[in-house]
Amino acid sequence: MKEIVPQPPIVQNDQRAIQELFQKHVVPSYGRFDLVFKGGAGSHLWDVNGKRYLDLGGGIAVCSLGHAHPEITEALVQQSKQLVHVSNLYYHEPQGRLAEKLASLIGLGKIFFCNSGAEANEGLYKLARKFGHDEGRFEIITATNSFHGRTLAGIAATGQEKIKKGFEPMVRGFKHALYNDLEAVRAAISPATAAVLIEGIQGEGGITAATPDYLLGLRRLCDEKKLLLLMDAVQCGHFRTGRFLASQRILEGVTGAEDFHVDGVAMAKSLGGGFPIGAIWIRQPFADLLGPGTHGTTYGGTPLGCAVALRILQVIEREGLADNARQTGEFLKSELNRIAAQYPQIIKAVRGLGMMIGFELAEKEQIPAFVTSEKAASVQFVNDLHEAGVLTIPSGNQVVRLLPALNLRPDEASEGIRIIESVVAKLTQTVTR
Ligand SMILES: *Cc1c(COP(=O)(O)O)cnc(C)c1O
Repeated sequence: MKEIVPQPPIVQNDQRAIQELFQKHVVPSYGRFDLVFKGGAGSHLWDVNGKRYLDLGGGIAVCSLGHAHPEITEALVQQSKQLVHVSNLYYHEPQGRLAEKLASLIGLGKIFFCNSGAEANEGLYKLARKFGHDEGRFEIITATNSFHGRTLAGIAATGQEKIKKGFEPMVRGFKHALYNDLEAVRAAISPATAAVLIEGIQGEGGITAATPDYLLGLRRLCDEKKLLLLMDAVQCGHFRTGRFLASQRILEGVTGAEDFHVDGVAMAKSLGGGFPIGAIWIRQPFADLLGPGTHGTTYGGTPLGCAVALRILQVIEREGLADNARQTGEFLKSELNRIAAQYPQIIKAVRGLGMMIGFELAEKEQIPAFVTSEKAASVQFVNDLHEAGVLTIPSGNQVVRLLPALNLRPDEASEGIRIIESVVAKLTQTVTR
C-alpha cells in the first residue's frame, strides 16, 4: 500500500528555487519583479504557479508577434537544419534578402547587421565619426531624456543622468539638447558637431513623440550645418506606430514632409521578435563610409537571425499587422483617455502612437494607496496590474508603458483595458475612503 502523503507545493518551491538561483548566481543589475515565467502563447504568458497574464509589455517592444509564434519556430527550425552560421567573411542569402527588405522599407541605402540596440547605435556613432573625421568633427547631439543603450558610448549618448552615474568619466563627444526644441539643438552645435541622434518617440524617457516641426526643422538644420540626422528606432520602429518608422507616421499628411529623410536608422528589439538581432540602415551617399575592415561583429546577420527577421516581416505584411498596430493601438489609447477623463486623480495624461502608449500617473503623494511605499508610482501601479493579471512596463517614476505584440487582438486589448480600469477604480476607492 502506498502511503498517502500530501502533495508538496512543488510550484511554490519552483518560484523560490529559481529566484534563489538568481540571487546566488546572477549579477543583480536589474530590478526584477517578483514573477517567474515558464511559457507563453500569443499575447499571454504563464508563470511557474500556473497564473496567466495578458502581456501588454511585449518583452519591452521585442515580441512583435507575441510568444511562441509558430512561424518564428518554423523559420528557426527550417533555417537551423540548413545553415545556422557562417562568418561575415562569406556571403549567404538570408542576410542579403533581409538587407534588401529593410532598405525597401526605409529608403535608398544599405544595412549593417549587429546584435542589439546598443550595438546598432554604436554603428551610428562610428558612422558619424567616420563622416566627420577628415574635418575634425566628431560630436553627436542627442536629446535630454533619451535612451540609447548601456554600452560606454551608449550611456554617454543617453540623456539621463541616472544611467551615467558611477561610470564616469563618460566617453567624449556627446552633447544633450532639450527634446522637441530645435533652438536647443542649434545652440548645441559646435564646429566639431557631426550628427544629431534622436528617437522618433522616446521610450524609456516616458513615451514622448517628436513633433512634426521638430523633425522637419532638424532636417533643415542638419542640411544647413552638414550634419547627419540619425534615428534610434530601436523601440519605436518596426511598424509599432503603424508605419515602419515612427518619423514616417508622425509626418503623415504634414506639408513639407516630402523632403524629409534621415541619414541613418538603428533597429533591434521587434526586428527579431525575441531572437537577438540588430541593424543599422545608412542612406545611400554615406552607405559606403564603413568600408572593408572599419566595422564588424561576429554574430551580425547570421543566416538564422536573418531568416527569423525575414519571416516576421512576411507575417506583418501578410496579416496587415501595421494596420492592426494603428487601429488596436488607437483603441487602447482612446480607452485610456476615457479612463483618464473619468479618473483624473489617478491618470494625468495618455501619450503615444499605435502600439507604443504611455499613461502618466498622478504624483505618488496624490494616490493614498501608494504613499506609504518607497517604490515609484509607476512600479506600484505595474505591480497592481500584475496582481490583476496584466504585464506592462514602467517608464521612469510616473509613466506606465504598453508595448504589446503587433498582433494583439481587439478582444485582448479590451481585456487589458477592463483590467487596467478595474485597477484604477480600486485606487480611486482608497482616495474617497
Ligand atoms: C532598448 C533600447 C536600446 C538598447 O537596446 P539593447 O538591445 O538593450 O542594447 C537603444 N535605444 C532605444 C530607443 C531602446 O529602446
